[in-house]
Amino acid sequence: MSTTEKAMEAFVHETGSWVAAQLESCTRCGMCAEACHFYQATGNPEYAPVWKMELLRRAYEQRFTLVGGIKLSLGLDKPITDEEIAHWGELNYEACTVCNKCSMVCPMGIDIGSLLHGMRAGLAAAGAIPADLAAAVTKQVDEGSPLGMTDKVWDQRLEWVADEWEVEIPRDVKGATTLVVFSSIEVMKFPANVAAIAKVLNKAGEKWTVSSKAREIVNFGFYEGSEEHTKLFLNRVLDGAKDLGVKRIVVTECGHAYDALRWHAANWIPEASNFEVIHITGVLGELIGSGRIKIKPGFFNDGGKITFHDACKIQRKGGHIQEPRDILKVLAPDAFIEMTPNREESVCCGGGGGVIAVKAADPVRYASFELKIDQVNTVSAKTVAMTCSNCRLQFTDGVDHFKLDWKVAGLSQMVADALEE
Ligand code: SF4
Ligand code: SF4
Repeated sequence: MSTTEKAMEAFVHETGSWVAAQLESCTRCGMCAEACHFYQATGNPEYAPVWKMELLRRAYEQRFTLVGGIKLSLGLDKPITDEEIAHWGELNYEACTVCNKCSMVCPMGIDIGSLLHGMRAGLAAAGAIPADLAAAVTKQVDEGSPLGMTDKVWDQRLEWVADEWEVEIPRDVKGATTLVVFSSIEVMKFPANVAAIAKVLNKAGEKWTVSSKAREIVNFGFYEGSEEHTKLFLNRVLDGAKDLGVKRIVVTECGHAYDALRWHAANWIPEASNFEVIHITGVLGELIGSGRIKIKPGFFNDGGKITFHDACKIQRKGGHIQEPRDILKVLAPDAFIEMTPNREESVCCGGGGGVIAVKAADPVRYASFELKIDQVNTVSAKTVAMTCSNCRLQFTDGVDHFKLDWKVAGLSQMVADALEE
């Protein structure tokens, strides 16, 4: 099968009545363009969301509609080519974080993010994914993690975190209530976050555990758009949860992983609905709201202004909008300040959806990050707090690249630092 045939087969597979209705509803008004941070940052018309999903629309029209057949026979449209597949691969993997802000402005209520995920399914089937993203997927298939967090590395890192921060990290505890699955970004790049979450859960008296089987929450199959790989990585988490007999799975600071496990897993794997899936932001809100842990009021009042970056999958999609604000208003009542836009209207960091893993995307990723720089500088914040380690990676890299003098902070770490003894 040629590249195009593989993509077309996958597009057709993706195109049920719901997708058809969504595609038919688009009036091509173009209002979604300005909502996209990549379009806003560059003015490139090919970065308009409606254009990024154009290949899916043409595949649908050509395969399923009379108009599409007539257009082809009259030469008003041409069959999709391998070159077009490759080009849309670049547009979708380098200049879309699947943040779904575009859906919020569409007057037809089209769920553009879901259609763009469908685009990725076709592109992945055709192999039109960037080499570095494909390599990360292969690493996750072979080693269990895209960041080289093999069994041995995971074991050593957790032991080191426990020693370094003097915190107990319960492992493979059968009968625990809660399974916590960290992302390799945290374990490898932000280990203090691992220690912080352990400290908070221990303080709350939570019966929790990590699992050596379910040790990676990141899902590069989901970034890629491959159902096969997404399910493989989800099953690793769910098998670990099943073996230990836990009731709920806590996803730590990773937005895309939360999206995959919270909203997609049960559609593919029925056993997924046996578990409550919750993001650590929700857990922090619960623990503080119920008084199971106490944090020191005003603990972060004196280090300059603090603002909060809303992550697309955790705040906009996940709804964990109020908890971080309630926490920051206790920790830094005089220093907390909102940037604009915020909450569900927040602008994406620019590094999600696998974009940060694609080297060729660096120029547009940095261009997009300049939007965040403006927002943070407008409120003169010196610290930007967040609840997604992928956003944190993008912010940390952006701070380094643009030589900014801000601190980038994970909310779990702030809570752990401010715990009342
Ligand atoms: S805003 Fe909605 S209707 Fe308008 S072009 Fe974008 S997807 Fe189509
Ligand atoms: S999902 Fe986000 S990044 Fe992708 S086209 Fe829509 S606004 Fe742009």
